[in-house]
Amino acid sequence: MIDSSAIWIKNPLSIAADDASGGIVVREGRIIDLIESGKTPSAEAEVFDASEHVVLPGLINAHHHFYQTLTRSSDHGLNKGLFDWLKSLYPIWAQLEPEMLSLASKLAVAELLLSGCTLSSDHHYLFPSGMEEAIGIQVAAGEELGIRLMITRGSMSLGSEEGGLPPQSVVQSEEAILLDSEQAINRFHQAGKGSMCQVALAPCSPFSVSRDLMRSTAELARRHDVRLHTHLAETKDETYFCLDRFGLRPLDYLESCDWIGDDVWLAHGIDFNADEIIRLGQYGISICHCPTSNMMLGSGFCPVSELEEAGVAVGLGVDGSASNDCSNLAQEMRQAWLLGRLHSGPDSMTHSDAIRLATEGSAACLGRKELGKIEVGARADLSLYRLDELRFSGAENPLAAIVQSGVSRADRVMIEGEWRVSSGEIIGIDLEQLRHQHDRAAKKLMSKYYLS
Ligand SMILES: [Zn+2]
Repeated sequence: MIDSSAIWIKNPLSIAADDASGGIVVREGRIIDLIESGKTPSAEAEVFDASEHVVLPGLINAHHHFYQTLTRSSDHGLNKGLFDWLKSLYPIWAQLEPEMLSLASKLAVAELLLSGCTLSSDHHYLFPSGMEEAIGIQVAAGEELGIRLMITRGSMSLGSEEGGLPPQSVVQSEEAILLDSEQAINRFHQAGKGSMCQVALAPCSPFSVSRDLMRSTAELARRHDVRLHTHLAETKDETYFCLDRFGLRPLDYLESCDWIGDDVWLAHGIDFNADEIIRLGQYGISICHCPTSNMMLGSGFCPVSELEEAGVAVGLGVDGSASNDCSNLAQEMRQAWLLGRLHSGPDSMTHSDAIRLATEGSAACLGRKELGKIEVGARADLSLYRLDELRFSGAENPLAAIVQSGVSRADRVMIEGEWRVSSGEIIGIDLEQLRHQHDRAAKKLMSKYYLS
């Protein structure tokens, strides 16, 4: 009798797990068995022949801004560093509407899924008038496409009139932010292993929120046992801003806001000195490395090997995608691999390290240690890649080829034991229609900006 709810992903071409050359067995959303070479599962199961697939744990994106897919390659943002880039784009983003965010979220999730991503974080901090339902819109988009989400309720309260970077048109009152943050947790956060949607709180950056809001957000998050996220140490400009306004470097400022703890993950983490790297390890804070965004904006590089040596968990994020211009997490692994070697030498960032950042590292950032690995008891989130493109022809080591030759599209993606991508297509979505609708929404956003 075949147990129809069990699937044996049989004899993979290669798999990122020990003792699983014969494949893995998945049932009820979990990995229940690893099969050694030449062996068969103890119980019968449906067979999926993976002999032409490289099997990885589902990739996890630890930092993103879905809405920014609407302003990719904008003339207003070209060839600028972070602060000028943000100041050019804030007034455009201020024109965001609910339908635009819905399409932007679906398109970003579709791109991520097709690259092999099974859990994505999103940092949404834009709540201009009319966008009060932004978090609900993102949750609905994730549900429709079947991806796991870590939605962070972001915030901006420090407008240019109070010495912040963003214009007043995109900041909110701190009272409204805290009220809505608590509502977002109560409505959408699912605690526990296997959760499909979690919420974290995420004041945007030292230059767009007040110290009071940082402190009250930390207090609120800890009262509800949800995680904390923000951009930190992204550029020298940010460090100068912190020194000028608070008399503190970014990590000292974070400490002064009661943000020290293993419930905190930070996007970027570039401008840390040696002492700060050691302290990050002692504090249990994790870092999301965003190599493409950092290179595109000329921000610098995250010292991944030094951070890991200090015991800091480092994950991977596509960021943007207006500071990346795409949302492909598989390609981001290759960027991390290349940048890591440029920074620390050829043995400091192997292809396995790059895969680990995008899986276990990101899972640690998001507090989801039951994800990001292939072992008995882990959730059944998997990405399967075929090596049948020209770029892979002749490759000896399939796992190395994924990173070094640069895979960009998954053939199969499984989330919580369900196939969400099959033969390179997202199940149940008209992708062409979504692309047309998204492109029209992006044009409408720009025309609203020009008329404003
Ligand atoms: Zn970001």
